[in-house]
Amino acid sequence: MTDILTHFPPTAAHARDRLAAFAPLAGSAYAMRRNFDYGPGMHGSVSVLSPYVRLRMLDEVAMSRIALAHHSAQEAEKFLAEVFWRTYWKGWMELRPTVWEDYQSDLARLRNEIQTQSGLRARWQDACLGQTGIAPFDAWAHELAQTGYLHNHARMWFASIWVFTLNMPWQLGADFFLRHLLDGDAAVNTLSWRWVAGIQTPGKTYLARADNIAKFTNGRFSSVAGLAQTAVPPQTDVPPAPRLLPRVPEPDRGAPYGLLLHDDDIDAARLIKGHPTPASWAYLDTSSGHSPWQMAPHVSAFRCAAAQDQAQGETGLSILKTAQDLRDWAVGAGVEQIVTPYAPVSPTQAVLAAYTTLPDAPPLHLDRRPLDTQSWPLATKGFFPFRKHIPQLISEFVERG
Ligand SMILES: Cc1cc2nc3c(=O)[nH]c(=O)nc-3n(C[C@H](O)[C@H](O)[C@H](O)COP(=O)(O)OP(=O)(O)OC[C@H]3O[C@@H](n4cnc5c(N)ncnc54)[C@H](O)[C@@H]3O)c2cc1C
Repeated sequence: MTDILTHFPPTAAHARDRLAAFAPLAGSAYAMRRNFDYGPGMHGSVSVLSPYVRLRMLDEVAMSRIALAHHSAQEAEKFLAEVFWRTYWKGWMELRPTVWEDYQSDLARLRNEIQTQSGLRARWQDACLGQTGIAPFDAWAHELAQTGYLHNHARMWFASIWVFTLNMPWQLGADFFLRHLLDGDAAVNTLSWRWVAGIQTPGKTYLARADNIAKFTNGRFSSVAGLAQTAVPPQTDVPPAPRLLPRVPEPDRGAPYGLLLHDDDIDAARLIKGHPTPASWAYLDTSSGHSPWQMAPHVSAFRCAAAQDQAQGETGLSILKTAQDLRDWAVGAGVEQIVTPYAPVSPTQAVLAAYTTLPDAPPLHLDRRPLDTQSWPLATKGFFPFRKHIPQLISEFVERG
């Protein structure tokens, strides 16, 4: 685990340095090479910034601004499209929270099935331990567990083999990812797995092919045998209609406040800029809410260490886990209100919602980023209609902002 945090130092300074180092490659080099997975420790064709983006130590504005400082909009188009794919998935899920709830119910059911069905349990264990005998799949399972990261193309191949070759429920694969990825995210992960499995875009599945794997792993895995030759789309329900984005009132920073950071937005500097200093600081660690199984320890370790870094100079950053912890901290610190970044659909959102039902809990004020308020409601259909709005979002938030 120490090794993982050595490769991903959990500091804002490191995130900025890594972004600056990658920026010269975010143009045509990225467009040409981004699909190549050269193997563990060799991911120079992509930014490997996702653990920092996940916590919003880097946001779309910072990523786009530096990319456009080095490249024309046309050269940086592919990189910017990927940056805003994430925005799109976040918005899509935020407008349809029941998709995450359904996934969690499915996992609870599958957990029971794993306990009662030895055949499923054995296949699931082999897949998670990288013992299926499918060489690239096993290598990616090990890479994920040992590094907390996988290249995007490897994620696509892995998910496809999980679903169509190993015939296992996509939800168990999504859970395996969420337990180990440093960037594991309720919206992006769930919707990406649904996309591979043919649920997100009905009728469209992603099939991992041996020749594609051989080419884009630069020959590391040639002649992979035994992969499914077809990926038949499952019968799917119509996705729920998008809801309106909940309104959030502006927080009043006049009264003494406690600042609560969490893994959906850990950027403290944005929250305190131009405001009185918080009376107390805390971090809400909801990592364990991502899975009914034990999370890999590096996930929580990375996030808690990043929170410590954000609260620089604060010796007593409280690490909280439950709604009750949150109330006890706020009451104990004597704050009149809690200010926290808006949490989209996630375990954190669930804990914050539970907090507001507790008696004597000081009011909670959610601070949502203007870019989120503007971009998430645009995720009503597929990515391609959403994509048309990217130039306008960039013009408003990156060039003018
Ligand atoms: C099955 C599956 C599960 C995934 N689970 C997650 C997840 O839990 N969390 C997560 O952040 N990403 C997830 N992704 C998307 C993508 O694989 C990662 O964001 C990307 O690999 C991160 O590496 P990078 O920072 O080097 O990306 P780069 O290629 O350098 O891209 C820059 C940034 O753009 C965003 N981005 C890039 N590709 C995508 C994409 N396909 N979809 C959405 N955003 C993207 C990320 O924030 C990334 O940091 C998943 C993809 C698949 C196929």
